[in-house]
Amino acid sequence: MIVKQAKSVEDALELLSHYGNCKIIAGGTDIIIQMNEKKVQPKVLIDISKVEELKKIEEDGDFIKIGSAVTYTDIIESSIFEGNLSGFKKACRLVGSPQIRNRGTIGGNIVNASPAADSVPPLIALGATIILESKNNIREVKVEDYFSHSETFGIREYEILTAIRFRKPKGVLTFAKLGLRKALAISRISIAALVELDKDNKVSFVRIASGSIGRYPMREHELEEFLQGKVFDDAVIDEAVKVLQGVMDVRLANRSSLPYKRRAVEAVLKEALGEVRK
Ligand SMILES: Cc1cc2nc3c(=O)[nH]c(=O)nc-3n(C[C@H](O)[C@H](O)[C@H](O)COP(=O)(O)OP(=O)(O)OC[C@H]3O[C@@H](n4cnc5c(N)ncnc54)[C@H](O)[C@@H]3O)c2cc1C
Repeated sequence: MIVKQAKSVEDALELLSHYGNCKIIAGGTDIIIQMNEKKVQPKVLIDISKVEELKKIEEDGDFIKIGSAVTYTDIIESSIFEGNLSGFKKACRLVGSPQIRNRGTIGGNIVNASPAADSVPPLIALGATIILESKNNIREVKVEDYFSHSETFGIREYEILTAIRFRKPKGVLTFAKLGLRKALAISRISIAALVELDKDNKVSFVRIASGSIGRYPMREHELEEFLQGKVFDDAVIDEAVKVLQGVMDVRLANRSSLPYKRRAVEAVLKEALGEVRK
């Protein structure tokens, strides 16, 4: 197998179109395992981990742009994700181990497309989009649609995810997850919430996304509709848990994991919504 070090996005796109049967490698924390298990067997790996333009976190007016090769550690150390965005830092802090956080990238997490990908629910809650570039085309897709629509799902041949972009939110972004084990846990349930409260403590804006409560990370529309306009107090949060459990009863019907997930979601949702008020 050949490993080619890309020097720029242009270079990586050129290499992608030149070689057949090749794959991008960023941090390698997913793809190396998949290669060892013979789930993927590329002839050429194109390493984008040293492409400077993919490693930047930039503020551009009302928007924040994260290069696809930005690692979890880069997010944790960035001053951009303080205050009302610290839920994104929390999601990154709870990923794997220090070694995984130092190498694993946000782009790799999205493209690998696990239902338990920790960066994805916060990005869906933020209404983020991803920018997918090929030699002759650029498409910008909402993270939410990338996972839920078959026509936009999946990276296409000759495409590179170059950046993730979202508008700076007015509300507070929170995140909570329940892992299988304390360290190195791939989360089994995660919830990210973006909530804005008005002067009467009523929910004036809400976007909620879950991980591992379905086949892919997704918006929780019924929960959002329930919360919209309500006074944000403990009683409403208790009711919100019941709404989500009701959604799970239908979505996960006949799954052996349902009784466990149904109970576990209570603590996860209460933590995510509780942090809005802190
Ligand atoms: C021990 C361990 C613990 C883990 N814990 C967690 C956890 O708690 N939460 C979690 O969410 N994940 C976890 N993971 C999974 C993994 O670390 C993450 O998914 C990580 O973000 C993947 O990023 P990467 O840069 O290493 O991807 P890579 O392995 O380099 O690539 C993954 C896939 O994405 C493609 N790809 C990568 N970047 C691009 C790009 N820019 N454009 C196009 N295609 C691209 C590759 O071709 C490959 O198919 C864990 C993994 C391990 C081994």
